Amino acid sequence: MIIVMVPNATEEQILEVVRRLEDRGYGHHISRGVERTIIGAIGAPEGEKQAVAEQLSRLSGVERVVPILKPYKLVSREHHPETTPVKIGEFVFGRQRVGVIAGPCSIESREQLMQTAEHVKAAGAIALRGGAFKPRTSPYAFQGLGKEGLEMLAEARQRTGLPVVTEVMDQRQVELVAEYADALQIGARNMANFDLLREVGRIEKPVVLKRGYAATVEEWLQAAEYVASEGNLQIVLCERGIRTFETATRFTLDLGGALAAKLETHLPIIADPSHATGNHKLVSAASAACIAAGLDGLMVEVHPHPDRALSDGPQSLTPKRFDLLMNTLKAVALAVGREV
Ligand code: PEP
Ligand code: MN
Repeated sequence: MIIVMVPNATEEQILEVVRRLEDRGYGHHISRGVERTIIGAIGAPEGEKQAVAEQLSRLSGVERVVPILKPYKLVSREHHPETTPVKIGEFVFGRQRVGVIAGPCSIESREQLMQTAEHVKAAGAIALRGGAFKPRTSPYAFQGLGKEGLEMLAEARQRTGLPVVTEVMDQRQVELVAEYADALQIGARNMANFDLLREVGRIEKPVVLKRGYAATVEEWLQAAEYVASEGNLQIVLCERGIRTFETATRFTLDLGGALAAKLETHLPIIADPSHATGNHKLVSAASAACIAAGLDGLMVEVHPHPDRALSDGPQSLTPKRFDLLMNTLKAVALAVGREV
Protein backbone atom coordinates (compact mmCIF):
# COMPACT_ATOMS: atom_id res chain seq x y z
CA MET A 1 0.00 0.00 0.00
CA ILE A 2 0.98 3.62 -0.42
CA ILE A 3 0.52 6.24 2.28
CA VAL A 4 0.06 9.70 0.83
CA MET A 5 0.84 12.40 3.38
CA VAL A 6 -0.89 15.80 3.38
CA PRO A 7 1.13 18.64 1.83
CA ASN A 8 3.67 19.90 4.38
CA ALA A 9 3.26 16.94 6.72
CA THR A 10 5.70 17.22 9.61
CA GLU A 11 8.71 14.96 10.14
CA GLU A 12 7.06 13.65 13.30
CA GLN A 13 3.91 12.68 11.37
CA ILE A 14 6.01 10.88 8.78
CA LEU A 15 7.99 9.11 11.49
CA GLU A 16 4.83 7.97 13.21
CA VAL A 17 3.68 6.26 10.01
CA VAL A 18 7.09 4.61 9.64
CA ARG A 19 6.98 3.44 13.28
CA ARG A 20 3.54 1.88 12.80
CA LEU A 21 4.71 0.13 9.64
CA GLU A 22 7.79 -1.23 11.38
CA ASP A 23 5.65 -2.48 14.28
CA ARG A 24 3.53 -4.46 11.84
CA GLY A 25 6.60 -5.94 10.13
CA TYR A 26 6.45 -3.86 6.96
CA GLY A 27 9.43 -2.53 5.07
CA HIS A 28 9.05 1.00 3.78
CA HIS A 29 10.35 3.42 1.23
CA ILE A 30 9.95 7.17 1.62
CA SER A 31 9.66 9.37 -1.43
CA ARG A 32 9.91 13.09 -0.77
CA GLY A 33 8.44 15.11 -3.61
CA VAL A 34 8.32 18.87 -3.97
CA GLU A 35 4.71 18.97 -2.80
CA ARG A 36 4.29 16.02 -0.56
CA THR A 37 5.79 12.90 0.91
CA ILE A 38 4.62 9.46 -0.11
CA ILE A 39 5.48 6.32 1.83
CA GLY A 40 5.45 2.90 0.21
CA ALA A 41 4.84 -0.03 2.54
CA ILE A 42 6.35 -3.32 1.48
CA GLY A 43 5.79 -6.94 2.35
CA ALA A 44 2.84 -7.09 4.70
CA PRO A 45 0.99 -10.29 5.52
CA GLU A 46 -2.07 -10.36 3.20
CA GLY A 47 -4.64 -10.80 5.95
CA GLU A 48 -3.62 -7.69 7.90
CA LYS A 49 -3.52 -5.18 5.08
CA GLN A 50 -7.07 -3.92 5.40
CA ALA A 51 -6.87 -3.30 9.15
CA VAL A 52 -3.48 -1.62 8.98
CA ALA A 53 -4.61 0.58 6.09
CA GLU A 54 -7.56 1.75 8.15
CA GLN A 55 -5.41 2.53 11.18
CA LEU A 56 -2.90 4.45 9.12
CA SER A 57 -5.55 6.49 7.34
CA ARG A 58 -6.68 7.84 10.75
CA LEU A 59 -3.21 9.12 11.72
CA SER A 60 -2.67 12.86 11.61
CA GLY A 61 -0.80 14.04 8.58
CA VAL A 62 -2.06 11.16 6.45
CA GLU A 63 -4.22 12.21 3.52
CA ARG A 64 -5.07 8.77 2.20
CA VAL A 65 -3.92 5.18 2.01
CA VAL A 66 -3.98 3.59 -1.42
CA PRO A 67 -3.90 -0.18 -1.81
CA ILE A 68 -1.65 -1.37 -4.63
CA LEU A 69 -3.04 -3.92 -6.99
CA LYS A 70 -0.13 -3.84 -9.39
CA PRO A 71 2.61 -6.46 -9.15
CA TYR A 72 5.24 -3.78 -8.66
CA LYS A 73 5.24 -0.75 -6.42
CA LEU A 74 8.68 0.71 -5.74
CA VAL A 75 9.12 1.41 -9.45
CA SER A 76 5.54 2.57 -9.96
CA ARG A 77 4.66 6.18 -10.71
CA GLU A 78 1.76 5.80 -8.30
CA HIS A 79 4.32 5.59 -5.55
CA HIS A 80 6.56 8.30 -6.93
CA PRO A 81 4.93 10.63 -9.47
CA GLU A 82 8.10 12.45 -10.61
CA THR A 83 10.70 10.79 -12.82
CA THR A 84 13.64 9.60 -10.73
CA PRO A 85 16.98 11.09 -11.73
CA VAL A 86 19.54 8.33 -12.32
CA LYS A 87 23.16 9.33 -12.44
CA ILE A 88 25.72 7.58 -14.61
CA GLY A 89 29.04 9.33 -14.14
CA GLU A 90 28.20 13.02 -14.11
CA PHE A 91 25.21 12.64 -16.39
CA VAL A 92 21.70 12.47 -14.97
CA PHE A 93 19.07 10.48 -16.88
CA GLY A 94 15.47 11.54 -16.47
CA ARG A 95 15.97 15.28 -16.72
CA GLN A 96 15.76 17.68 -19.62
CA ARG A 97 18.92 16.50 -21.31
CA VAL A 98 18.77 13.18 -23.16
CA GLY A 99 21.84 10.96 -22.86
CA VAL A 100 23.45 8.82 -25.53
CA ILE A 101 25.50 5.81 -24.44
CA ALA A 102 27.66 4.67 -27.34
CA GLY A 103 30.41 2.21 -28.14
CA PRO A 104 31.13 -1.17 -29.64
CA CYS A 105 29.00 -4.23 -29.09
CA SER A 106 32.09 -6.14 -27.90
CA ILE A 107 35.44 -4.89 -26.76
CA GLU A 108 37.74 -6.52 -29.32
CA SER A 109 41.07 -4.78 -28.84
CA ARG A 110 42.60 -1.84 -27.03
CA GLU A 111 42.93 0.12 -30.21
CA GLN A 112 39.33 -0.50 -31.27
CA LEU A 113 38.00 0.60 -27.89
CA MET A 114 40.19 3.72 -27.47
CA GLN A 115 39.47 4.89 -30.99
CA THR A 116 35.73 4.48 -30.51
CA ALA A 117 35.78 6.03 -27.04
CA GLU A 118 37.56 9.15 -28.20
CA HIS A 119 35.27 9.54 -31.14
CA VAL A 120 31.96 9.12 -29.32
CA LYS A 121 33.14 11.42 -26.55
CA ALA A 122 33.94 14.17 -29.07
CA ALA A 123 30.54 13.65 -30.70
CA GLY A 124 28.70 14.17 -27.40
CA ALA A 125 28.07 10.69 -25.98
CA ILE A 126 27.69 10.76 -22.19
CA ALA A 127 28.97 7.23 -21.56
CA LEU A 128 30.95 4.51 -23.30
CA ARG A 129 29.45 1.05 -23.74
CA GLY A 130 31.35 -2.12 -24.56
CA GLY A 131 30.79 -5.79 -23.76
CA ALA A 132 33.52 -7.75 -21.99
CA PHE A 133 31.28 -10.70 -21.16
CA LYS A 134 29.07 -11.38 -24.17
CA PRO A 135 25.81 -13.33 -24.12
CA ARG A 136 26.17 -14.98 -27.55
CA THR A 137 23.46 -17.21 -28.97
CA SER A 138 26.08 -19.72 -30.14
CA PRO A 139 28.65 -21.08 -27.70
CA TYR A 140 31.14 -21.04 -30.58
CA ALA A 141 30.77 -17.31 -31.26
CA PHE A 142 33.20 -14.74 -29.78
CA GLN A 143 32.47 -14.63 -26.04
CA GLY A 144 34.26 -11.40 -25.16
CA LEU A 145 37.64 -10.57 -23.59
CA GLY A 146 36.41 -10.91 -20.00
CA LYS A 147 38.54 -9.22 -17.35
CA GLU A 148 41.01 -7.94 -19.93
CA GLY A 149 38.11 -6.12 -21.58
CA LEU A 150 37.13 -4.58 -18.25
CA GLU A 151 40.66 -3.28 -17.84
CA MET A 152 40.49 -1.69 -21.26
CA LEU A 153 37.22 -0.02 -20.30
CA ALA A 154 38.86 1.45 -17.22
CA GLU A 155 41.67 2.77 -19.39
CA ALA A 156 39.20 4.30 -21.84
CA ARG A 157 37.46 6.05 -18.94
CA GLN A 158 40.80 7.35 -17.75
CA ARG A 159 41.62 8.69 -21.20
CA THR A 160 38.27 10.23 -22.10
CA GLY A 161 36.56 10.91 -18.80
CA LEU A 162 33.53 8.98 -20.04
CA PRO A 163 31.83 6.69 -17.53
CA VAL A 164 31.62 3.09 -18.76
CA VAL A 165 28.64 0.74 -19.03
CA THR A 166 29.13 -2.99 -19.46
CA GLU A 167 27.07 -6.14 -19.16
CA VAL A 168 27.18 -8.51 -16.23
CA MET A 169 25.88 -11.96 -17.13
CA ASP A 170 26.24 -13.88 -13.93
CA GLN A 171 25.70 -13.30 -10.25
CA ARG A 172 29.27 -14.41 -9.55
CA GLN A 173 30.65 -11.65 -11.79
CA VAL A 174 28.82 -8.76 -10.15
CA GLU A 175 31.59 -7.83 -7.75
CA LEU A 176 34.27 -7.93 -10.45
CA VAL A 177 32.28 -5.99 -13.02
CA ALA A 178 31.21 -3.41 -10.43
CA GLU A 179 34.89 -2.79 -9.63
CA TYR A 180 35.42 -1.49 -13.17
CA ALA A 181 32.06 -0.27 -14.45
CA ASP A 182 30.20 2.94 -13.65
CA ALA A 183 26.91 1.25 -14.55
CA LEU A 184 26.02 -2.43 -14.90
CA GLN A 185 23.99 -3.60 -17.85
CA ILE A 186 21.60 -6.50 -17.48
CA GLY A 187 21.07 -7.93 -20.94
CA ALA A 188 17.81 -8.94 -22.57
CA ARG A 189 18.57 -12.63 -22.06
CA ASN A 190 19.04 -12.12 -18.33
CA MET A 191 16.09 -9.84 -17.64
CA ALA A 192 14.37 -12.66 -15.81
CA ASN A 193 17.45 -13.96 -14.00
CA PHE A 194 16.03 -13.08 -10.62
CA ASP A 195 19.08 -13.97 -8.55
CA LEU A 196 21.23 -11.73 -10.75
CA LEU A 197 18.65 -8.94 -10.44
CA ARG A 198 18.72 -9.22 -6.67
CA GLU A 199 22.50 -9.20 -6.66
CA VAL A 200 22.76 -5.95 -8.64
CA GLY A 201 20.06 -4.59 -6.34
CA ARG A 202 22.51 -4.92 -3.46
CA ILE A 203 25.30 -2.82 -4.93
CA GLU A 204 25.55 0.93 -5.13
CA LYS A 205 25.96 1.28 -8.86
CA PRO A 206 23.36 2.27 -11.42
CA VAL A 207 21.83 -0.52 -13.49
CA VAL A 208 20.78 -0.40 -17.14
CA LEU A 209 18.03 -3.01 -17.33
CA LYS A 210 17.25 -4.17 -20.83
CA ARG A 211 13.83 -5.52 -21.65
CA GLY A 212 13.77 -9.24 -22.43
CA TYR A 213 12.82 -9.79 -26.05
CA ALA A 214 9.88 -11.93 -25.06
CA ALA A 215 8.89 -9.93 -21.99
CA THR A 216 5.77 -7.84 -21.56
CA VAL A 217 6.07 -4.33 -20.16
CA GLU A 218 4.62 -5.62 -16.90
CA GLU A 219 7.26 -8.36 -16.66
CA TRP A 220 9.99 -5.82 -17.42
CA LEU A 221 8.76 -3.58 -14.61
CA GLN A 222 8.64 -6.52 -12.24
CA ALA A 223 12.26 -7.27 -13.13
CA ALA A 224 13.08 -3.68 -12.17
CA GLU A 225 11.12 -4.21 -8.95
CA TYR A 226 13.48 -7.10 -8.08
CA VAL A 227 16.44 -4.71 -8.28
CA ALA A 228 14.58 -1.99 -6.39
CA SER A 229 13.37 -4.38 -3.68
CA GLU A 230 17.01 -4.89 -2.62
CA GLY A 231 17.44 -1.15 -2.18
CA ASN A 232 18.86 -0.02 -5.51
CA LEU A 233 16.54 2.40 -7.29
CA GLN A 234 19.24 3.69 -9.63
CA ILE A 235 17.77 1.91 -12.65
CA VAL A 236 17.55 3.02 -16.27
CA LEU A 237 15.20 0.86 -18.33
CA CYS A 238 16.21 0.09 -21.91
CA GLU A 239 13.80 -1.01 -24.65
CA ARG A 240 15.87 -3.05 -27.13
CA GLY A 241 13.28 -4.63 -29.39
CA ILE A 242 11.00 -7.61 -28.96
CA ARG A 243 10.32 -10.76 -31.00
CA THR A 244 7.34 -10.54 -33.28
CA PHE A 245 6.30 -12.22 -36.55
CA GLU A 246 8.11 -9.45 -38.43
CA THR A 247 11.45 -10.42 -39.97
CA ALA A 248 12.23 -7.17 -41.82
CA THR A 249 14.10 -6.00 -38.75
CA ARG A 250 16.17 -8.11 -36.31
CA PHE A 251 13.72 -7.43 -33.48
CA THR A 252 10.74 -5.05 -33.39
CA LEU A 253 11.34 -1.71 -31.70
CA ASP A 254 8.40 -1.47 -29.31
CA LEU A 255 8.20 2.27 -28.94
CA GLY A 256 4.56 2.02 -27.86
CA GLY A 257 5.56 -0.39 -25.11
CA ALA A 258 8.32 1.92 -23.95
CA LEU A 259 5.86 4.82 -23.82
CA ALA A 260 3.35 2.72 -21.93
CA ALA A 261 6.12 1.85 -19.49
CA LYS A 262 6.87 5.54 -19.09
CA LEU A 263 3.32 6.15 -17.89
CA GLU A 264 3.67 3.35 -15.36
CA THR A 265 7.11 3.91 -13.90
CA HIS A 266 9.12 6.83 -12.57
CA LEU A 267 12.37 5.28 -13.80
CA PRO A 268 14.04 6.89 -16.83
CA ILE A 269 13.61 4.93 -20.07
CA ILE A 270 16.01 4.76 -22.99
CA ALA A 271 16.01 2.70 -26.19
CA ASP A 272 18.61 0.68 -28.07
CA PRO A 273 17.76 1.05 -31.77
CA SER A 274 20.90 -0.92 -32.77
CA HIS A 275 19.62 -4.24 -31.42
CA ALA A 276 15.98 -3.36 -32.09
CA THR A 277 16.52 -2.88 -35.83
CA GLY A 278 19.69 -4.89 -36.44
CA ASN A 279 20.44 -2.61 -39.37
CA HIS A 280 22.71 0.44 -39.27
CA LYS A 281 20.59 2.06 -41.99
CA LEU A 282 17.61 2.18 -39.64
CA VAL A 283 19.37 3.27 -36.47
CA SER A 284 19.26 7.01 -37.04
CA ALA A 285 15.55 7.20 -37.91
CA ALA A 286 14.57 4.86 -35.08
CA SER A 287 16.69 6.90 -32.65
CA ALA A 288 15.05 10.13 -33.79
CA ALA A 289 11.61 8.59 -33.24
CA CYS A 290 12.49 7.56 -29.69
CA ILE A 291 13.73 11.01 -28.72
CA ALA A 292 10.82 12.74 -30.46
CA ALA A 293 8.47 10.51 -28.47
CA GLY A 294 9.96 11.57 -25.14
CA LEU A 295 12.34 8.80 -24.12
CA ASP A 296 15.27 9.82 -21.93
CA GLY A 297 18.14 8.60 -24.06
CA LEU A 298 19.65 5.95 -26.28
CA MET A 299 22.20 3.18 -26.36
CA VAL A 300 23.87 2.90 -29.75
CA GLU A 301 26.53 0.56 -31.13
CA VAL A 302 29.49 2.21 -32.85
CA HIS A 303 32.51 0.45 -34.38
CA PRO A 304 35.47 1.94 -36.28
CA HIS A 305 35.17 -0.85 -38.88
CA PRO A 306 31.74 -2.48 -38.69
CA ASP A 307 32.62 -4.86 -41.52
CA ARG A 308 35.34 -6.36 -39.31
CA ALA A 309 33.36 -6.45 -36.06
CA LEU A 310 33.34 -9.71 -34.09
CA SER A 311 29.72 -9.13 -33.09
CA ASP A 312 26.79 -7.04 -34.35
CA GLY A 313 28.66 -5.44 -37.26
CA PRO A 314 25.57 -5.02 -39.46
CA GLN A 315 23.87 -2.81 -36.86
CA SER A 316 26.94 -0.82 -35.83
CA LEU A 317 27.40 2.76 -36.92
CA THR A 318 30.72 3.99 -38.26
CA PRO A 319 32.09 6.96 -36.31
CA LYS A 320 31.06 9.20 -39.19
CA ARG A 321 27.48 7.91 -39.17
CA PHE A 322 27.43 8.40 -35.42
CA ASP A 323 28.30 12.08 -35.91
CA LEU A 324 25.39 12.43 -38.31
CA LEU A 325 23.10 10.74 -35.81
CA MET A 326 24.14 13.13 -33.03
CA ASN A 327 23.41 16.10 -35.27
CA THR A 328 19.97 14.76 -36.10
CA LEU A 329 19.28 14.16 -32.42
CA LYS A 330 20.22 17.71 -31.50
CA ALA A 331 17.52 19.05 -33.80
CA VAL A 332 14.92 16.49 -32.70
CA ALA A 333 15.59 17.07 -29.01
CA LEU A 334 15.28 20.81 -29.47
CA ALA A 335 11.92 20.37 -31.20
CA VAL A 336 10.52 18.55 -28.16
CA GLY A 337 11.94 20.94 -25.57
CA ARG A 338 14.97 18.87 -24.67
CA GLU A 339 18.66 18.86 -25.47
CA VAL A 340 21.37 16.31 -26.24
C1 PEP B 1 24.36 -5.75 -26.18
O1 PEP B 1 24.06 -4.68 -25.65
O2 PEP B 1 25.36 -5.91 -26.91
C2 PEP B 1 23.43 -6.89 -26.02
C3 PEP B 1 23.84 -8.14 -26.06
O3 PEP B 1 22.17 -6.46 -25.85
P1 PEP B 1 20.82 -7.30 -25.56
O4 PEP B 1 20.99 -7.88 -24.22
O5 PEP B 1 19.77 -6.24 -25.64
O6 PEP B 1 20.70 -8.33 -26.66
MN1 MN C 1 25.40 -6.07 -29.45
